[in-house]
Amino acid sequence: MIIIDCAGDNDIAIELENYLKNHGFGAKAEESILTVTEANIEHILGSFLKETSRSDYSVRKIDSTNFVLAREVPIEDFGFVRCEMCGYVVSNEEELLIHRRAHGIQLL
Ligand SMILES: [Zn+2]
Repeated sequence: MIIIDCAGDNDIAIELENYLKNHGFGAKAEESILTVTEANIEHILGSFLKETSRSDYSVRKIDSTNFVLAREVPIEDFGFVRCEMCGYVVSNEEELLIHRRAHGIQLL
């Protein structure tokens, strides 16, 4: 049995429940948590996201029975800035300048 946590999104949980049922799976949504009586579910979840044009969503595997289906929010949307060299995230441009020194860049 697989548990899919839709991260508080009851609508997508119900939509996914119906999608899975239409594809012959046993699925039951309780609020935003979906229980599926099928072990090999990863590719189905991928198809669901593709067919419903949810390219900004992703499926994360927590362990063998727990998945999280949620929208991927870019960290930049929260006002953070990311070092373009290593991907390190800091909270503002000033901190980024300080961080960049770690890469040995001489600032003028
Ligand atoms: Zn860096």
